[in-house]
Amino acid sequence: MTSNHLNIWNKCLEVIKDNTSEQSYATWFKPIVPLSLHNQVLTIQVPSMFFYDWLEDHYIDLLRKTIKRFLGPDGKLEYSILMDSSDQSYTMVMPGSNHNNIKNPIGRPAPENLSQSPINPFVIPGLKKLQIDSQLNENYTFENFIEGDCNRVARQGGLAVAKNPGKTAFNPLLIYSGTGLGKTHLCHAIGLEVKRLHPDKTVLYVQAEQFTNQYVTASKNKNLNDFVHFYQMIDVLIIDDIQFLAKKTMTQETFFHIFNYLHQNNKQLIITSDKFPADLQDMEPRLLSRFKWGLTADLQTPDVATRSAILRDKLYSNGISLPDEIVNYLATNVRTNVRELEGVMISLVAQSSLNKKAITIELTQQILDRFLRNSVKEVSVEYIINIVCDYFNIPLEQLALKTRKRQVVEARQIAMFLAKKYSNASLATIGKQCGNKDHATVHHACKTVADRLDTDKQFKVMMADLEKKISM
Ligand code: ADP
Ligand code: MG
Repeated sequence: MTSNHLNIWNKCLEVIKDNTSEQSYATWFKPIVPLSLHNQVLTIQVPSMFFYDWLEDHYIDLLRKTIKRFLGPDGKLEYSILMDSSDQSYTMVMPGSNHNNIKNPIGRPAPENLSQSPINPFVIPGLKKLQIDSQLNENYTFENFIEGDCNRVARQGGLAVAKNPGKTAFNPLLIYSGTGLGKTHLCHAIGLEVKRLHPDKTVLYVQAEQFTNQYVTASKNKNLNDFVHFYQMIDVLIIDDIQFLAKKTMTQETFFHIFNYLHQNNKQLIITSDKFPADLQDMEPRLLSRFKWGLTADLQTPDVATRSAILRDKLYSNGISLPDEIVNYLATNVRTNVRELEGVMISLVAQSSLNKKAITIELTQQILDRFLRNSVKEVSVEYIINIVCDYFNIPLEQLALKTRKRQVVEARQIAMFLAKKYSNASLATIGKQCGNKDHATVHHACKTVADRLDTDKQFKVMMADLEKKISM
């Protein structure tokens, strides 16, 4: 009996592990020590006040659902916080938050194992328009979506759409970028702004994956009509990660009809994609051609000044202060994407709070090393161009010249192919960086190289050699 709290907490940890990233789990949940279980109240010890705040801010829904799952509806969580006063430590007990609205933890997918049926509001009979939950995350606003050269068109386009949904030329608004660059954040911001400016409009955010699941369920239960009608009631429909519909012909077909209906009725569509629309494979051409009707805007990797501004804003809104030196160091060294930048910042603050160590450049370097080693290697287009030019002994500037020299043309095509394979950049971005070409040229280059790989053994060996250099 005495170890009951251990058992329960271990069960909770299993669920939590399935519903968080490895990094978050290690950072926020591993350091927790379960202390006791009395009258359905589980007390857990956390290493600092900062941990407590962070858990309550970011993981409360997951914690609440998990606790209730194992302790029943009256299950509650209590924190024992290790406080550090100058000469001794003491603990302080805080109740877990009791509010009951269920939101996704920031930036992470909904804990799927917990909520068996995510949103399926259209099955509720007599549903009134205004009762639809928009599924918007209030933490993703325009205010905290920092503008830079990398995202100006998309952000301004989004603001225009939010002011006059369905009434601008930006319909649909299609936002595309590699991962972690702000698509999801921006489309939530647009939804929230519409609701602020036009409270009478029905806004719905849905991931293409959820849309597909709903479609499959509806089609199984033979109520596709309800499904379609539900979507036809929406004034501003936001579909995140449309690339998920690739190959799903039937779902695409239904989406096509919903799209047409909404568009004809001057309703706003906002779509995000991890690829430039023309590069979306296995999508119906007639659907793709619809996407061109409005505004297509990309989000690029922010430059160092924007990265630093984003960091400062995140720190400020989380009530954390870091020396300028550290902020600059992070902004300079984490170049991949904003999600990773945020991840490193959080790990850093958590580690320093956990070990009660001051945040120094050394600690920052350590965390950064560990973080970058753990993360999938993502490389920049620039990096690839460097390697390719070096390999073929071509001066960097040559790649940008309008030359038809065979060797340069070939190197450029190879650089494009490798950039598509290894970086997160869109074809348009790759083209811009490889001699100011358009995305169609990049597309063609990738195909040429792929064809040659299939037919030319020697070429294949050389490419393998090059790729080895990239992943080194
Ligand atoms: P995507 O959907 O493109 O993969 P997300 O929208 O999930 O990317 O963004 C990843 C993280 O980076 C989020 O926490 C988001 O708040 C943050 N982020 C991205 N761009 C910006 C920006 N311009 N300003 C502030 N935060 C940003
Ligand atoms: Mg996203």
